[in-house]
Amino acid sequence: MADHCLFCRIVRKEIPAQIVAETEDCVAFRDINPQAPLHVLVIPREHVASLNEATDPALVGRLALAAADIAKREGVAESGYRTVINTNADAGQTVFHVHLHLLGGRRFSWPPG
Ligand code: 5GP
Ligand code: ZN
Repeated sequence: MADHCLFCRIVRKEIPAQIVAETEDCVAFRDINPQAPLHVLVIPREHVASLNEATDPALVGRLALAAADIAKREGVAESGYRTVINTNADAGQTVFHVHLHLLGGRRFSWPPG
C-alpha cells in the first residue's frame, strides 16, 4: 500500500513537491490545488491511512506543532490560520495518508462547509 501511496512517494521524493519543512518524522509541502494564499499539507513520514488508524499521540502532536512553526515562518500566526484533518468520505478525504491542512492568508468562515 505504502509503495503506491501518493504521499509516501512525495516523502521518498519520487514525485516532486514544493517542500516547506522536513523533520525526522514529518514532511510539509504546498498543496497542488491551494484553497487559500497559504495552503500546506503536513504529513508523517510513516504511512498511516487516516486519523482512524493513528495510534501514536505524538504523531498528531508533531503534525500540529510543525504546522504552528510553518504558520509563524509564513507570517500568518498573528492574523490566524486554520488546521484541518479530513477523515473519510463525509469530510472529503481523498488521499489516504493522514495529512494536516494548514490554511492561512484569508478569513475562514465557521461553521465550515
Ligand atoms: P484531502 O481531501 O484528502 O483532505 O486532501 C488531499 C489534498 O491533497 C488536496 O487538498 C489536494 O489538492 C492535495 N493533493 C492531491 N494530490 C497532490 C499532489 O500530487 N501534490 C500536492 N502537493 N498536493 C496534492
Ligand atoms: Zn502513504
